[in-house]
Amino acid sequence: MKTAQVYKDKIIVKDTENINLDGRKGAIVKVLGCGLCGSDIVKFREKIVHDGAVLGHEIVAVIEDINTDTNFKKGDKIVTSHHIPCGECTYCRHGNVSMCEHFKSTNIRPGGFSEFVYVSEEHLKNVAYLIPDNITDEEISFYEPLGCCVRAIKRCNLIEGDKVLVVGLGSIGLIMSEGIKAFGYKVYGCDLMEDRIKLANSFGIESYNSKNLDDFDKIIQEKSGGIDAVFMTSGADKALDVALKVVKKGGKILVFSSTPHNSGYPNNEIYYKELTIMGSYSPSPKDLKDSFDLLTSGRVNVKGLTTVYPIESIQQAFEDTIANKILKAYIKIS
Ligand SMILES: [Zn+2]
Ligand SMILES: [Zn+2]
Repeated sequence: MKTAQVYKDKIIVKDTENINLDGRKGAIVKVLGCGLCGSDIVKFREKIVHDGAVLGHEIVAVIEDINTDTNFKKGDKIVTSHHIPCGECTYCRHGNVSMCEHFKSTNIRPGGFSEFVYVSEEHLKNVAYLIPDNITDEEISFYEPLGCCVRAIKRCNLIEGDKVLVVGLGSIGLIMSEGIKAFGYKVYGCDLMEDRIKLANSFGIESYNSKNLDDFDKIIQEKSGGIDAVFMTSGADKALDVALKVVKKGGKILVFSSTPHNSGYPNNEIYYKELTIMGSYSPSPKDLKDSFDLLTSGRVNVKGLTTVYPIESIQQAFEDTIANKILKAYIKIS
């Protein structure tokens, strides 16, 4: 079977030995395609994975072989996520499901950028869904990334009438904004790239250029009457400046992106403005279910966001994403 493996700064498509169930419960799935996640980019660029690692977790796949107590059967087209919380540890009990040790240890193997993948029984029971006919493979591949956004939105505990600003209008910024809209809150967007601002506006997300921070702040305060929560989907240095400038007193800043380095701790802004700063990393099974419903009902629109690459061009997909040439890559495998 074909697998795309990381070797230093290259991703090499190799022919590796086929996998099978070997008496295990779960399923062997044939991967139709897999979305390229920002976290894959970080792992590749920062070289934090070992040689031979297979990245990718946003898979759309067909069940090839199965041994299960669930209703899934051979030939079913499914979408699944990769991590499952235990539900009992201190992290799970505090709602920090993505910090759970079990969550971190569960995965699809060897990884999504592979012709075949082993999906465990636990995955089938908790985070896998049958894909209906009304949605394309590329669209449903947003299941896990949108699940991450759903969790972030819930963690913010917004109340009716709240106004939100999303900083960064890449694919995650766009689906975060759409998710916030679908939850019933007013959302604004900002970025430094004009084409992204234009695209966001075409998705019905009122968006502006934040290059001149004072001008942007004036516009956004006039339009919104005060931003209750800022969602930082960009890891650019300027993103924190934007957030601290526009957020209203008592507001929230939701951190949803890594940055190349820590840029300091804004103690006085947090103290004098009584801000709440929080992070949100990865979704729970319930958030994923909500994401599945938002996508399949069409309440979150992801049409036209992806660029499709065959697995042989996966290196190009990584490079184009890093160079901001595309919004979101979908690697077609079978
Ligand atoms: Zn992802
Ligand atoms: Zn746990």
